[in-house]
Amino acid sequence: MEVSEKKLCKTCYMEIPIKAKKCPYCQRGQNVFSMIFWYPILSIIGFFIPFIIIGCIFANMFNKGKDFTPYRNQITINSSELRFGEKQSGETVAVVGTMSNSSPIPWKEIQFEVRFYDSNGKIIDAMQQKGYSDEIPANGSSAFKVSMLREFPKEQYTKYDVVIISARDAHSLW
Ligand SMILES: [Zn+2]
Repeated sequence: MEVSEKKLCKTCYMEIPIKAKKCPYCQRGQNVFSMIFWYPILSIIGFFIPFIIIGCIFANMFNKGKDFTPYRNQITINSSELRFGEKQSGETVAVVGTMSNSSPIPWKEIQFEVRFYDSNGKIIDAMQQKGYSDEIPANGSSAFKVSMLREFPKEQYTKYDVVIISARDAHSLW
């Protein structure tokens, strides 16, 4: 006589053949091993999800952003010129210009170094300074300006060069 014993699926409680290894309704495995195997894993994953989310939030909070060094060559100074002026505190020399950023990262706190030379090519003055503009967008351009009090008459500032020495990822929070 044909055995027609039935059992209940452990997951969906439908009546299924007693020898079924897999429920024909919900496809869930019926042996003990597959039950032990799947449910603890799901509950462990479920348990860790809040920690993963909190971890991501913290990682974002402490995000220091990309290091500028490998991108240094991707900010280029398109044009610049010297400007001389006077403030109450003394006479000034400024460099104003435009720069463009071909990197996919916006940069902030861009630090410039300017060196001034006389007509003999001797360095007479220098400054390291953050530009007055806040940020240069990714794949964009912006103006910049740095200025300082000068020690020599403007005629002596015949040549200069300007380089960007550091910057910070504008997405970084710290
Ligand atoms: Zn089932």
